[in-house]
Amino acid sequence: QKCLRVSGKHNDLENVGPSPRHHTFFEMLGNFSFGDYFKEEAIRFGWDLVTGAWGLPPEHLFATVFEEDDEAFDLWGRLSSLPQGRILRCGAADNFWAMGDTGPCGPCSEIFVDLHPEEPEVDFAEGSESGRYIEIWNLVFMQFERREGGETVDLPNPSVDTGAGLERVSAVLQGVGSNYDTDLFQPILAAAAAVADRSYGAGDDGDVSLRVIADHLRAVSFLLSDGVIPSNEGRGYVLRRILRRAVRHGLRLGLEDPFLHRLVPVVEETFAGPTGRRYPQHGATRAATVATVRAEEEKFLSTLAAGAREFQDQVERVRKAGGSELPGVSAFQLYDTFGMPLEVLREMAEEERFTLDETGFQEHLDDQRRRSRAATGDGQKKAQALGAILAGEGEATEFLGYHQSELEGARVLRLAKLDGGASSGQAVSAAALGAGETGAAALDRTVFYGEGGGQVGDLGAVTWEGGRARVTDTQKTGAGTVLHFLEVEQGTLPADARLRLEIDSERRRAVERNHTATHLLHAALREVLGEGVRQAGSLVAPDRLRFDFTHPRPLEPQELERVETLVNRWVFKDVDTRFEIRDHAEAVTAGAMALFGEKYGDRVRTVEIPGFSLELCGGCHVGGTGEIGLLLITAERGIASGVRRIEAVTGEGALERSREQAQRLAEVSEALGVAPDRAATEAEALRRQVKEKDAELAKLRLELAAGGASSGGGDEEVQEVAGIRLLVRQVPTAPAGELRNIADTLKSKLGSGVVVLGSGEPGKASFIVAVSDDLAGSTLHAGKLVKALAAEVGGGGGGRPDFAQAGGKDFDALPGALEKAPEILRQQRGDG
Ligand code: ATP
Ligand code: MG
Repeated sequence: QKCLRVSGKHNDLENVGPSPRHHTFFEMLGNFSFGDYFKEEAIRFGWDLVTGAWGLPPEHLFATVFEEDDEAFDLWGRLSSLPQGRILRCGAADNFWAMGDTGPCGPCSEIFVDLHPEEPEVDFAEGSESGRYIEIWNLVFMQFERREGGETVDLPNPSVDTGAGLERVSAVLQGVGSNYDTDLFQPILAAAAAVADRSYGAGDDGDVSLRVIADHLRAVSFLLSDGVIPSNEGRGYVLRRILRRAVRHGLRLGLEDPFLHRLVPVVEETFAGPTGRRYPQHGATRAATVATVRAEEEKFLSTLAAGAREFQDQVERVRKAGGSELPGVSAFQLYDTFGMPLEVLREMAEEERFTLDETGFQEHLDDQRRRSRAATGDGQKKAQALGAILAGEGEATEFLGYHQSELEGARVLRLAKLDGGASSGQAVSAAALGAGETGAAALDRTVFYGEGGGQVGDLGAVTWEGGRARVTDTQKTGAGTVLHFLEVEQGTLPADARLRLEIDSERRRAVERNHTATHLLHAALREVLGEGVRQAGSLVAPDRLRFDFTHPRPLEPQELERVETLVNRWVFKDVDTRFEIRDHAEAVTAGAMALFGEKYGDRVRTVEIPGFSLELCGGCHVGGTGEIGLLLITAERGIASGVRRIEAVTGEGALERSREQAQRLAEVSEALGVAPDRAATEAEALRRQVKEKDAELAKLRLELAAGGASSGGGDEEVQEVAGIRLLVRQVPTAPAGELRNIADTLKSKLGSGVVVLGSGEPGKASFIVAVSDDLAGSTLHAGKLVKALAAEVGGGGGGRPDFAQAGGKDFDALPGALEKAPEILRQQRGDG
């Protein structure tokens, strides 16, 4: 089993690094019995393997049992050759397993190994605390069921669940004191150490960081190759947190540039083993994994940099005010807006000898969670409110809508009324729905497809004796009950009605085209881009389809074209779709693609386009691929690091789309006054002409605005102020670069002196001041002059001693400001 222990009941995250035997990700060996063999055999199997096949000396071992489990205690005595006093009774904390307050549970029995048998024996509690006696094997005897209220009853089929950590067993068998000293970790540690330009084994904090990096990379590599995508929630967030913790430990080692992605191949080669054949999945996903890790690293490092700057500002502000605590609101802002993890903030505060108001932080966080709950989408709200009322236990609605669009005699099982419209989320159980009322019904059978697997729910109508309602949405609950959202148009719907159902079959057929097309697209992407492509989500609606998948970079235009062509070739072949119900294991062996994280039962439905695509899918499809008509890809873009999205249309949607495109082209060519095939060339030519005209215009404007002001004097515009030649001029508004050119031209014409330009339009006034080199700095400062001018139009600014630009909003004040220029110059000259 691939195990990840970073959240919930088993959370070893904080332990990883310091501990020699805890990982976030590890491989667990196990043997299981479901109502077959029980304690005796399980203990014998464990003992035989550990002491027989693996050859561990019995005198180095201990066994623990739950203190009340006399049966296990006696069995160890009878079946093993453990020395006296090596079978220990322990309390419930360590030796009683339960997943929750209710449900299956039972006593455990563990095997411990003494890592230092050469040293004098110590008390078991002390030895296991210090890490000298380590647990390698745990037998869980699932024997009871705890009911609501605490009553415990015997399970009819007692079961066994064994767990032995491969890393710990390896450490013992290889005779090393730490899992990290085994061949499972050494190559990774060595590579990480090399990147950090140090070596592993110094026994300091650097070793801890290297262990964290090695461990976390294993976890990250498996999560990514199994299709988890970094995000801010759920499993994606677990992945992101682990990855970021590794980045932070890299920083501690002085690794300020992305480095983790460079180690991914080493991690995966280590897992592949000497034959290179273990975990073949890694090979196909490696490029995507490396690219995603890299993108995540880059993003986090830049977040940290921006966050660190903001953090410093906040700290300075508090410090100036005499404080030494980072307020909760600041911490929350850094967390929320800058994405700084709380652990990082804590560490940084410590470095500044600051405390952090964690209570305040928590309050802001809770507030935000409340707000986002309140903003939950309508659909979810509806389903949540209704779930309790309508989702009866074990009453999955039978779906008969794969090949028929109508159904007689469906029975209403439960009915709910939605108060204040469907979006208020207020639902009550109802005995009837009157005309004009909205509500939802759970039925025993239906032809309405409940939204799921990316496919949207059906719309349509239901009728009964004396009444009719519109179906405005169909949703499926986790328990398989299909909820029909209704708007009663006529009559009263009683809670025990028999209904006639009819879906909007035209809409459904469009959905089916898009659903089968989605499968074709998936298969085509894998063929063109490789097996590393994994589905990461989809939407199948009547008017379009959307397919999200893992891929490290944007698709090249040729790749997109190949995908589109491939899909359409399968459309033109008009292959019959094949549906089958089979055993899950059999379907997977046959190569059926399953979605990661999706739950499937023992019996599954497969949808096959023979020769091209095979998927586990409960959705609705066309009978033959020809019905799709045509698929057109309309967009391709990235939606998260390492995840791309393709949007496409089929059937009538494709027809509409190509009509629209043709229409647009017709409009363009008409506007250009040329035939469609000449439109592009014509547009290109026009753009070139416009550019040339612009340049010409700029030149003319410059000549016009920079006219006069010859250095020979005699220009009435040039005045002498406090012995300095000053030219003030208002010019028509022009792009900033052009204004600078005008100022430069005037300045060189003027020789020694100052040029002041004003320009603008209502709402915007701007100035440029240029000071000749002989005056700039020593006598005059353009930045200071421009600042004084800008103040006159309600603005501010500054700049270099020889050249400065600034502006304000008050255009009406521009002429007045320019008139004041001599005065301002005189003052500044006086200031010295
Ligand atoms: P410990 O008390 O040492 O944390 P545990 O009681 O949590 O162990 P179990 O839940 O019984 O362990 O898991 C079964 C086996 O899996 C253990 O005997 C051990 O070999 C291994 N194991 C458990 N947690 C980890 C971990 N974080 N990293 C590596 N191996 C582990
Ligand atoms: Mg544990």
